[in-house]
Amino acid sequence: MDVRDGPVLVLQRIRTLLETLITDEQIDRLSIRGMGIGIPGPVEFRSGEPVSPPIMPGWHRFRVRAFFENAYACPVYVDNDVNVLALGERWAGLGQGFNDSLFVKVGTGIGCGIISGGRIYRGADGSAGDIGHISVTDDDVVCRCGNVGCLEAVAGGAALSRIAQEAAQRKKSTALREMLKERGELSASDLSGAIERGDPVATRIIREAGARIGRTLAGLVNFYNPQLIVLGGGVVQTGNLFLASIREAVYRRSLPLATAHLVIQESVLGDRAGVIGAAAMVLEELLHIDPLNAQGKFGARAYGVFDTETRSQESYTA
Ligand SMILES: [Zn+2]
Repeated sequence: MDVRDGPVLVLQRIRTLLETLITDEQIDRLSIRGMGIGIPGPVEFRSGEPVSPPIMPGWHRFRVRAFFENAYACPVYVDNDVNVLALGERWAGLGQGFNDSLFVKVGTGIGCGIISGGRIYRGADGSAGDIGHISVTDDDVVCRCGNVGCLEAVAGGAALSRIAQEAAQRKKSTALREMLKERGELSASDLSGAIERGDPVATRIIREAGARIGRTLAGLVNFYNPQLIVLGGGVVQTGNLFLASIREAVYRRSLPLATAHLVIQESVLGDRAGVIGAAAMVLEELLHIDPLNAQGKFGARAYGVFDTETRSQESYTA
């Protein structure tokens, strides 16, 4: 579904799917202890409401938490999607065993989930990690947030498809031009197709985007000194060149002490990171499970918790 259809249509559809799941799997409603939801925009975690999300018209201050709490009579936690992905990676992916890490998603937009001391760091109001709107250039590239020169306006997935399309239309790249003729439009993944064909323009576009993201991450590394940066999202899957360009810029621009033990890797969980992260969010918030004691044992630990502790009085009152 398109989130631009608005909250009522989208959330009703999710509810319909949940009902189907509950019926098909014969799930006891009383066994649903909590729900975790990730939203592609800034979320005020306290209230569970999106706040002025740039790509989600009609969602501002929509009471997402209340919508599901009323329907399922269980606690509901709503967070920004990148935070949920970071939690998934922390519990069951590369982030296991790393207490200070960053999860950077490069999709249509760019965002960052921050794990600090083993827990997600949301900042004072929930907007920590919104790195896509850090200013990286004086060019007049207008961002969807209304500002100019934002990182995601020059290196996010939407920006890359725009840049690729411009290169094709201006006849700078034969490979991209042929692809545009075939498909009518170009996406970031078409750039990897052109790179495989040895197209120098596509190579340069990906290199520059990777370098721009890498320079921003270098600033974050100097500031925050993470042990691990996990990269995920559609654009990261365009291939090794993108990851290599990011790594190169981070290592070149960061202080030696900050990169001494720094690991930069592509996510291994892929599409599952969000679902695992949403479940982990419920475990952390509702049952106060400490990820430091659960690392590496997500499956066993989680099911252990559901089998025993959820039947305690504490979880019912929570
Ligand atoms: Zn912006």
